[in-house]
Amino acid sequence: MPDGILDLRMAAPAIALRGVGKVYSAGRGSLVALAHVDLALRAGELAAVIGPSGSGKTTLLSIIGGILTPTSGEVWIAGQEIARLGEAERSRARLAHIGFVFQGYNLFPSLTARQNVEIALDLKGVKRRHRAAAALELLEQVALREKADTYPADLSGGQKQRVAIARALAGTPSIILADEPTAALDSVTGRRIMGLFRDLARQQRRAVVIVTHDSRLLDFADRVIAVDDGRVSEAAAPRAVELAGSEPAAAAALTAGLIRRPRSFEHSDLVGTP
Ligand code: ADP
Ligand code: MG
Repeated sequence: MPDGILDLRMAAPAIALRGVGKVYSAGRGSLVALAHVDLALRAGELAAVIGPSGSGKTTLLSIIGGILTPTSGEVWIAGQEIARLGEAERSRARLAHIGFVFQGYNLFPSLTARQNVEIALDLKGVKRRHRAAAALELLEQVALREKADTYPADLSGGQKQRVAIARALAGTPSIILADEPTAALDSVTGRRIMGLFRDLARQQRRAVVIVTHDSRLLDFADRVIAVDDGRVSEAAAPRAVELAGSEPAAAAALTAGLIRRPRSFEHSDLVGTP
C-alpha cells in the first residue's frame, strides 16, 4: 500500500470551501461565476458535480485544485488553506495533494502509456531510476499494465482515460479531480471508468470529485452536488444515498426531497431506464 494512505483516514474533511466566490472580469463588466460556496468533502467520498453548461462547474473544480484562486473565501485542502498562498506554494500544495484528470485525456501522442505516466512522476519529484517501475505500478492499478508500451493512438478511449487516471495517481494524491471524464466514452466504458473512480474513493480513501453531464452515472456517487448559476445546492446526504442501495443517488435524493432538481435535468433522466 502506498505511503500516506492510512494517514488520510484520519484527515476529515479532505476538502473544505468556505464562502468561496469567483468573479471574472468580462469585457467592461464582471461575471459572478461562483457565489458564496460552502462545501466539505471527506476522504473516501465520491462527489459528482452536475449542472448546466456555464453554471460554474469547471471554475469550482479548478479552485478546489488550486489552478484558480477564488475572489473571496477560503479553500482548505488536506488541512492547508491554499487560496492565500503565493503561486509557488500553491503549486507545491497542488503537486502534493491533487491529482487532476483533464478533459480530453491530454496525453502526449509521441510517448507510450508508460512514458506519459513517467512525466507525471517526474513532476511529482519521483527520482528517474524509480519512475519506470512506479509507472508500471500505476498502470497496473488501472488494469492497463499490458498496454504500457502502447502509444495513445493505438489505445481505445477508455484505455486512454485509464492512462490519464494513472497519471493523476502519480505521487499518491489524497484528492482526485476530473472534469467530465466520461464525456467521450460510450456508456458501458463510462460506467467502468466511474467504477474505477469509486474504487479509488472507497478502497483507497481518496476524496474524488467528478464533473459529469451524464445523469446515468450518478448512482456511483456518494454525493451529488448541483451547481446552478454559480450557486451550489448541497446535494444528497451521504446517508440518504447509502440507504438508496442500487437506486440512482440523484433519484433517491429527489424522492427524499433533499435536492432541488437542476434546471437542465428532467426527472425521467435522473431516474433513468433500467
Ligand atoms: P461550466 O464548467 O459549468 O460550463 P465554467 O466554470 O466553465 O462553467 O464557467 C462559468 C461561467 O464563467 C461561464 O459563464 C463562463 O463563460 C465564465 N468563465 C469561465 N472562465 C472564464 C474566464 N477565464 N474569463 C471570463 N469568464 C469566464
Ligand atoms: Mg466545464
